[in-house]
Amino acid sequence: MAEDSADSNGKLTQDGLKLTRRSLLGAVPLTTAGLSLASLAGGSRAAFAQEQLEKPKVRAEGHKEPPLENFKYDLDGSSGFSGEGGTAKEVTVAEFPVSTSVAAVSMVLKPGAIRELHWHAIAAEWAYVVEGNVRTTVLGPNGEAAEDDFGPGDIWYFPKGHPHALQGLGPGNAHFILVFDDGHFSEFGTFSITDWFAHTRPELLARNSGLTAQTLAALPKGEVYITPGRVPPRLEPFRDGDPIPSQGAHKFKLLDRQPLVWPGGDERIVDSRDFPMSKTIVGSIMNLKPGSLRELHWHPNADEWQYYISGRARVGIFGAHGRSRVEEFGPGQVAFIKQGFGHYIEQIGDEPTRILITFPAAEYQEISLSSWLANNPSELIEDNLGISAEEVAQMPKSKMAIYGPRG
Ligand code: MN
Ligand code: MN
Repeated sequence: MAEDSADSNGKLTQDGLKLTRRSLLGAVPLTTAGLSLASLAGGSRAAFAQEQLEKPKVRAEGHKEPPLENFKYDLDGSSGFSGEGGTAKEVTVAEFPVSTSVAAVSMVLKPGAIRELHWHAIAAEWAYVVEGNVRTTVLGPNGEAAEDDFGPGDIWYFPKGHPHALQGLGPGNAHFILVFDDGHFSEFGTFSITDWFAHTRPELLARNSGLTAQTLAALPKGEVYITPGRVPPRLEPFRDGDPIPSQGAHKFKLLDRQPLVWPGGDERIVDSRDFPMSKTIVGSIMNLKPGSLRELHWHPNADEWQYYISGRARVGIFGAHGRSRVEEFGPGQVAFIKQGFGHYIEQIGDEPTRILITFPAAEYQEISLSSWLANNPSELIEDNLGISAEEVAQMPKSKMAIYGPRG
């Protein structure tokens, strides 16, 4: 953890400014409020700031907010499941207490390997394929079954309780990130077919499955989770040359979407407006050029969960009441930012940075600092910050999203 001095300074100023605003709203003469017109006009900013800091604070003495929780977890650096068919590393509230609304798994399947038939009782599953190819099967309660193939940049979404299986298609390993819309999902919520069979009376299971007692006796004695399997034949390509059948109800090819392009990078976002099945997870891929800055912003409606695919960045969060925290992130690491917390992403290093960003919500929402300040009168900002009209005019007049490298 590092102290974000800029944010801390900002906070100190802000406390004083709340008083300024109250004073102005209360029609208290400026001189009574201890302000000079010269300082408001930017004549003596240091004096202005000092005057504000010396005023008594509104908040009662002794009131203390708890420090901000850790918001970084090294997912791919953790130990997890490792078997003949692949590996799985998991993060839930057990490992990462701040992440109450999101759990995740970084999974690798070898060609043919199967993540066995299962469902999640308390969470929907959203996934992004980082590399390789995966096939899924899923059944919905209306009887609709789907079989889809996924390649790099594709996402899937399985609603809570819909049973599914995953299989590596090769060539090479498939690596994908599974995101669940509940931080507790693992401990209470994964139901596997082998686990159920192993814990059901054999005579009863024989009647329900059509299998003989002899066959049942040879079944796995507990949950298989990930097991080697045969590589299935590929689905036949369509005439349009797309090697993978087009988007389905559970599938969205995120990287095929036109990105929003900004001076410092680009982003592709998909939510339930374009991917109706995905009612509880918004997903995006952000590419940051070296030296760029994803500007100060927050999300009014959702927590934010990030997974660093490549490159590095420094993330700063602001949790009100003078609390801020900064961490550095690299490949395989996860950040969690609480709903409404201010934050930024500062690209670092010579390599571009690619981040998978998800939100447990139906729709994407954000408020950016530049947009907020552009949508206020100059005079209000001048008096709020104690700066001149000329200085306010230097600020952007629209949303910046991602600033380019400093020129
Ligand atoms: Mn699953
Ligand atoms: Mn954000």
